[in-house]
Amino acid sequence: MIGDIIGFIGGLAVTLKSTWREPVTAEYPESDKRLNLEERYMGFPALTWDGDVEEPYCTGCMVCIRECPTQCMTAEMKDNPLYPEESRRRKIVDTFEINLGRCIICGICVDVCSFDAIEMSHEHELSKYERNGNRVDLQSLISMGRSYQQKVGWEPKNPGKNRGTPQVEENSQSAINDAEVTDSRSGEPMEGDECPDL
Ligand code: SF4
Ligand code: SF4
Repeated sequence: MIGDIIGFIGGLAVTLKSTWREPVTAEYPESDKRLNLEERYMGFPALTWDGDVEEPYCTGCMVCIRECPTQCMTAEMKDNPLYPEESRRRKIVDTFEINLGRCIICGICVDVCSFDAIEMSHEHELSKYERNGNRVDLQSLISMGRSYQQKVGWEPKNPGKNRGTPQVEENSQSAINDAEVTDSRSGEPMEGDECPDL
């Protein structure tokens, strides 16, 4: 009998202790209760912006599109109208789309990009009611990228090679984007395919 009472009091003490303890979880999606994201957090991919030249870093080279395991990306490149006076990028991205409903946030597109043009942003709240509501176009991807860059104080990993300002090229051994980017298998310039439906 006494043992039962002691057990009851012990249980009550644990309950009261947990009641007044600071919560270690957050109710979602209440905005005022969201936890802060760590800088290393990987959300959806986004395109970076070269503020020195006012154009994206992306050249539309298609490497990330070829390597994406879910084939959720598509892009097209064009001749850069700012080249060579204002930009070192001979080619520039024209259209870009990622179907984020198919993206598995693997980060392969970031790993294979040689131009510092794509980063895993902190964006993760993109649920939609429509089946293909998460097809995100070039402007939206740039907008996501710019927010991310501003938030984390982003700098290119290889500024000497990848910054687009012409004066950087004079001090650099490597020229950016000099060669046409072609399909490594066929040797043909790559064209963007339609993003497959879910
Ligand atoms: S690999 Fe980089 S530069 Fe090439 S299309 Fe992808 S994001 Fe753009
Ligand atoms: S993170 Fe992975 S799945 Fe998503 S777009 Fe990049 S390569 Fe494709």
